[in-house]
Amino acid sequence: MNRPSCRFCRSPLEHVFADLRTSPLANSILTPEQANRMEPFYPLRALVCGECLLVQLEEFETPENIFGDYSYFSSYSTSWLEHSRRYADEMVSLLDLGPGNRVVELASNDGYLLQYFGERQIPVLGIEPAANVAAAAVERGIPTLVEFFGRALAESLAPDSAADLLIGNNVLAHVPDLNDFVAGMKVLLKADGLITMEFPHVMRLVEDNQWDTIYHEHFSYFSFTTVSRVFAAHGLRVFDVEELPTHGGSLRIYGCHDDDSSRRQSGRAAELLERERRGGLTELATYLDYGARVVADKLQILEFLIGLKREGKRIVGYGAPAKGNTLLNYCGISTEFIEYTCDLNPHKQGHLLPGSRVPVRAPEAIREDRPDVVLILPWNLKDEITQQLSFIGEWGGRFAARTPELRLL
Ligand SMILES: [Zn+2]
Repeated sequence: MNRPSCRFCRSPLEHVFADLRTSPLANSILTPEQANRMEPFYPLRALVCGECLLVQLEEFETPENIFGDYSYFSSYSTSWLEHSRRYADEMVSLLDLGPGNRVVELASNDGYLLQYFGERQIPVLGIEPAANVAAAAVERGIPTLVEFFGRALAESLAPDSAADLLIGNNVLAHVPDLNDFVAGMKVLLKADGLITMEFPHVMRLVEDNQWDTIYHEHFSYFSFTTVSRVFAAHGLRVFDVEELPTHGGSLRIYGCHDDDSSRRQSGRAAELLERERRGGLTELATYLDYGARVVADKLQILEFLIGLKREGKRIVGYGAPAKGNTLLNYCGISTEFIEYTCDLNPHKQGHLLPGSRVPVRAPEAIREDRPDVVLILPWNLKDEITQQLSFIGEWGGRFAARTPELRLL
């Protein structure tokens, strides 16, 4: 077997960050007809590079198999749509965007974000490797290329499609060839263009025990320190950063060409680098201590669920996110604890979760079925979900979610 090497700096990977045993691909949901088939399981083991401290997974499957028929449609999350609309408003006024500019989004999903630029007559281009979600974007009038992004694609598009604003939300973590991807951004960005990217912050993963956000599609877990190094290696400069509540704690980084003197380093960038240093994110030992906390969490989660079952409670899930599959499969939880889960996405309803084989139903099931406890799997959306399902109080139903320990809300 080849020894794995860091997807950024190529150093040998020798340190385990979190070993979540084996799991199927988190988004490979099963149809009822597939219920009797075997499923491929892969090791789910996050490593940390001793040199650049990038937390990362080894690659076991081709990106085509992982992302070819993606079942996550961004438009099904109302809070994410609101987040996207606000972002578009901010960028249009910050950059004074109009019909003479171009906005390019990498991993543009179903066009949920570019629609807010398109409706202002700003030329847009989406690049999205999953054909089924790209088709949904084209249907709503968003020009979309069904491609994996990298240097070669960027060279074929520039300069005609060079970007004044180059957006990548929740894609950098999912990129197997990180260096090729960032090199492509350097090529596709206009001389005075702006890059913004959002991705979950590894500091939140570490400090809030968010190990369930580790899944096979999610190759890299960035600190601000490490992502700044990655950009610098490709002639790009990260000059500003915002911390966002999305996905349990994300960063929005702002990048430009390294010789773009119009953009000054922000105080926020310096402050976050310093906070990561004080938080131990620049020390290997911090990452090596993490695995024991993951094991402790597994014991707590099982104790909590066993306690409810011993009291005779009926538990159902809410949501079918990738993080839910990591949690259920790592902890060995199936229908003996959670009878089914519910999801708004009709592409998931009537299917079975990978590995655990927990059935997915429409949310209306909860009102008819009146379970005692609703376990919210996408804990990052728990405020939205507890509001939507507040009617479970009518029969004394309770919510449970990781906070980070799993408890009744
Ligand atoms: Zn490295």
